[in-house]
Amino acid sequence: MDFELDADQRAWREEVRAFLREHVTPALRAELAEHDLEKRDGELAAFRRRIGEKGWFGLNWPVEHGGLGLGPVHQHLLVSEFEYWGVPGPDLTVTSVAPMIMRHGTERNKAEFLPPIARGEMVCAVGYSEPGAGTDLASLRTRAVLEGTMEDGEWVINGAKTWNSGAQRSTHEWLCVRTDPDAPKHRGISVIIVPIDHPGVTIRPLTAWSGYRTNEAFFDDVRVPATNLVGEVDRGWRYITGALDLERGALTNAGDLRRAVDDLVALADRPRRDGQVPAHDPAVRRRLAQLDADVEVATLMGFEAASLLADGVIPSVEVSTEKIFTSELRQRIAEVALDLLGPDGLLGHRTPAAPDDGRFERLYRIAPLLRFGAGTNEVLRDVIAQRGHAMPSYGR
Ligand SMILES: Cc1cc2nc3c(=O)[nH]c(=O)nc-3n(C[C@H](O)[C@H](O)[C@H](O)COP(=O)(O)OP(=O)(O)OC[C@H]3O[C@@H](n4cnc5c(N)ncnc54)[C@H](O)[C@@H]3O)c2cc1C
Repeated sequence: MDFELDADQRAWREEVRAFLREHVTPALRAELAEHDLEKRDGELAAFRRRIGEKGWFGLNWPVEHGGLGLGPVHQHLLVSEFEYWGVPGPDLTVTSVAPMIMRHGTERNKAEFLPPIARGEMVCAVGYSEPGAGTDLASLRTRAVLEGTMEDGEWVINGAKTWNSGAQRSTHEWLCVRTDPDAPKHRGISVIIVPIDHPGVTIRPLTAWSGYRTNEAFFDDVRVPATNLVGEVDRGWRYITGALDLERGALTNAGDLRRAVDDLVALADRPRRDGQVPAHDPAVRRRLAQLDADVEVATLMGFEAASLLADGVIPSVEVSTEKIFTSELRQRIAEVALDLLGPDGLLGHRTPAAPDDGRFERLYRIAPLLRFGAGTNEVLRDVIAQRGHAMPSYGR
């Protein structure tokens, strides 16, 4: 295996860095520092438009679907750089919803949904979890009933989703619904694209410990054209599990971890308020060295997943391993940071004397999210045991 990037990939990374140097302005940084991603016409919205103009939302899609035809490694490099710079890039709509539409969607789905996704104009919230269906997602009860025919009828949707992240700034729901209540529970599930501004859709905020906003979403007699069904009716489980594997891969890029450790190493060299320089302590240096080595491992895992995608395989066991490793590593980085920074490490954003404006205090609160987001680590350990090591499944 060759771990080096080739000349073309190195040139691509330079192009991405040049774009970021030009467009990550102090004004954009200031808006991001407020963690206010809600503004529809702010700096972030302008930054997204620039990404769309470059065609980078669909950079690894085939040209016939409006993409640039570059590979998953190019996309991985771009996402790593964006994460390193701390700015949002292609989101789950691009990295997990669109590939499923390409693989399984009808010709009409592709013509209708892919071009606006590539331009950054269509953004989906991912509507899987329900109050009674988390890990056991196949127990979902949101119901869609077809009135009329598949050509010119309508789906009538009723139900509720929870933890519906990003719905407040999305245009559509990638909504997982039950279309055949009499079928075994993994069958009889479909995916329907629902415009969020449709009558009958209600979005209510839910705020996590970190201040991260997610939502509850309610669907009361929501009507959408029958053609908004993705692919085939009752085949949704396959699309959802494929999208979830892609989501795990996309969520586990190590760019932000590299940045956190680089910043932590720099902070460790500065005297704290009590006069101590953390990096002078050999125990601190050992912990930082361990984190550095672990980030390197996480980076290689990311390249492994991107290479599998480049070979046409959706990695499953590999991204489960990567997701567990990176989410637990993120938490360890935050824990080392708080130990190393002493009492000031507990000071939050906008507090005078907060090291790095409280970013490690925030990381400490936000890090647990990815231990259960996109499937809990406990369950992914089962996935690795069963799919990776052919071990038996208990209790199902
Ligand atoms: C901030 C936040 C954002 C989220 N965003 C989204 C989103 O945008 N879209 C979306 O659809 N969902 C989203 N989720 C939901 C997330 O994917 C679920 O929380 C997760 O899948 C777990 O489901 P649950 O919370 O119902 O926990 P449960 O499924 O009730 O699990 C509770 C505990 O039991 C363990 N457990 C359950 N079953 C097993 C088993 N078979 N074997 C071993 N252990 C088991 C779990 O590991 C966990 O520790 C989000 C969640 C949060 C908190």
